[in-house]
Formats: sequence, structure tokens, C-alpha cells
Amino acid sequence: MRFLFIQIIFLISINVYSQNGRIVGHIANRDTSMGNNYWTVYLRQGDSTIKATATDASANFGFKDVREGTYKLTIQQIGFRDLIIDSLQMSGDTTITVNLNFPPPCKFIYLSYLKNRKPKCIIGGHNNNIIPIVYGLPSKKTMTKAAKGLVYLGGCVVSDCDPHYYCTIHSIEL
Ligand SMILES: [Zn+2]
Repeated sequence: MRFLFIQIIFLISINVYSQNGRIVGHIANRDTSMGNNYWTVYLRQGDSTIKATATDASANFGFKDVREGTYKLTIQQIGFRDLIIDSLQMSGDTTITVNLNFPPPCKFIYLSYLKNRKPKCIIGGHNNNIIPIVYGLPSKKTMTKAAKGLVYLGGCVVSDCDPHYYCTIHSIEL
């Protein structure tokens, strides 16, 4: 009787396992001057991390035994913005293949070569109440300007994807 019970449990677990799928991927490095070819890849559901892995020497990664559900991949490399792939739908015994480019495109449209041209707000389309963002440790003069709402302090950490203007009506970076 005990033997039978163990066998049933075993069969059930095999059955569950066989319905799980795989996610495999490759990352193409778009910025070889700055980054290496190693990334950390997180498999997430909402805010919780289900699994984590690192890419191999060929920039490939994979997750086995992924249950049915909706997942998110977060690809990280120190010094770069995260690449996030949303809404991966895993259903049963399938393999999802993803080919990714890293780093992801910058969401700010007004980058350095345009920084002297004041943009319109992407929400309201207005061009008033748009102030420059100042990076780095602010001087006393800059602090006074910031207190008057003439500039916005962006902090000290700069990357290749930083906004240069700020809309004070909608509180968004442009
Ligand atoms: Zn606005």
C-alpha cells in the first residue's frame, strides 16, 4: 500500500513537470565600447523574482521548468538601464525564444545633441513651464534657481540616457 502511494505521487509530479516550459534567449550587445558580454537575467512575476541566471560566454541564457503563467524578464548590467520584457505568456510544455538588444533604446527623446532646444511637453504639448534639468553637485546659485523653480536638480549620476528638461505642470522628465 505504501509503495502504491509513493508511485502515485511520483506519477503526479512527472505529470506536472512535463507541463512546464522553457524560456531561452540571446542578448546582442549594442554598446561593446562600454559593456561586457555578461548579464544577469531575472524571471519575475509582478514584483517577485521566480528565478535568476547569468548569461554564458556566448550571451545566451535559459530557464527550465517554468510553470504556466505570465512572466517578465529583467536584464541587468551594472551601469546601464534595465531591459524589461513584459507579458511573456508561458503555456504548457513549450519553449519561448527571445532575442534581445542591449542596452534598450533611450525613452527620452531630447538627448545631448538637442539639449539647447526646448521641447514641448509630451503630455500637454505646451512649451511653457518647461525648465532645464541640471546634473551634478549644485552650486549656491543653482540651488537658488532651483528654489525659484527655474531649474530642476537631476542628481549626480549621469548615464547615456538622461532627460534635459522637466515639465513643472505634469512633473515629468522630457
Ligand atoms: Zn506638461
